[in-house]
Amino acid sequence: MDKAILLIMDGLGDLPTPKTALQKAKKPNLDKLAKEGITGLLSPVGRGVVPGSDTSHLRILGYEPKICYPGRGPLEALGIGFGLKEGDVAFRANFATLKNGVIIDRRAGRIETANASTLSKLVSMKIEDVDVIFRNSVEHRGALVLRGPGLSSCISETDPHSNAGVLECMPEDDSQEAAKTARIVNKFTEIVQKKLSEAPENKARESKGLPPANIIFLRGAGTFSSVPSFYERFGISGACVAGGALYRGVAKFIGMDIFLVPGATGDKNTNLKAKGEAAIKALETHDFIFLHVKATDSFSHDGDCAGKARFIERVDKELIPILMESGANLIVTGDHSTPCSRKEHSGHEVPILIYGSGERADHVKKFDEISCMDGGLGHITGKHLMPIFLNVLGKAKKFGS
Ligand code: ZN
Ligand code: ZN
Repeated sequence: MDKAILLIMDGLGDLPTPKTALQKAKKPNLDKLAKEGITGLLSPVGRGVVPGSDTSHLRILGYEPKICYPGRGPLEALGIGFGLKEGDVAFRANFATLKNGVIIDRRAGRIETANASTLSKLVSMKIEDVDVIFRNSVEHRGALVLRGPGLSSCISETDPHSNAGVLECMPEDDSQEAAKTARIVNKFTEIVQKKLSEAPENKARESKGLPPANIIFLRGAGTFSSVPSFYERFGISGACVAGGALYRGVAKFIGMDIFLVPGATGDKNTNLKAKGEAAIKALETHDFIFLHVKATDSFSHDGDCAGKARFIERVDKELIPILMESGANLIVTGDHSTPCSRKEHSGHEVPILIYGSGERADHVKKFDEISCMDGGLGHITGKHLMPIFLNVLGKAKKFGS
């Protein structure tokens, strides 16, 4: 079948301590794919580059982030359902708890989503000639969009990244646009603090001893500007199955269709079977499915190598067999390494495998960082991937006559 599923396990690559999570995990299905397919090592953004998940996903899906990266804010906003317009400035946003000018809880006690939804109705407004639109997503998280003339994302954030007070937003260049945007953000912060402090929901939280969600801080500002769609660029239709808003946002940014899956939460208890079934459903109407699982990265940031290995085993048992039955070409890789020993992303290569009728097999028998050093794909970077995928699908255009 001339179709493909790309499974990205976030932060998959690791450093051996003395084994990596992939080496520790019992994963007969992934090893079978490696044995019957072709393998290699991938530097998603460039050799030795430490990628963010957003830039890495763009690069893997055929877009050069140095040219088109809109910033984290617009991608998150798209991922939680905003339809962005050219020139919109978007931010990641967080409810938090402020007391006597100091943030005492950066997540407002991980406020329940329903409660945050009620509060979020109070915080969309018009300031000067700009629409300020807030939408919450899960728990304390959300996104804010500024829509109006003469805006700029060349401004500082209001997130103190500590338990200090909310920072004043400052213009970061001399333009009128940056000055205006900073002024609007500061006005928003002032109004929101007042409105939220007086909200009945917050009074109720305080009477129950819960931290009130009485401030919203902003980070990751970016200006939205559209790019040619995945279909326009590569001539194949793409769909995305992902729990996390950022990944859905990347897919939406490049014009992929999003398949929402109940129970696909993007966390450690995500419903892998439901995600696999959604990917199979998406294959009926699309050529190329981008399927994302997040928990490998979350366990890595926690330094929990055993948990990461157990999650890989779950993927192997619950998800891979569903994908194998589809008959589509399968590509499995990560968007970067997140070594459990470092608890952070690193620039080490990530193993990759391609299995299906569109590729040859090499001599590698296991899917892990060390075995794949000997793989037939060799050492590749993200810019090689879309040409390789198109060739696997038999959709690459001939160069010359
Ligand atoms: Zn990532
Ligand atoms: Zn990460």
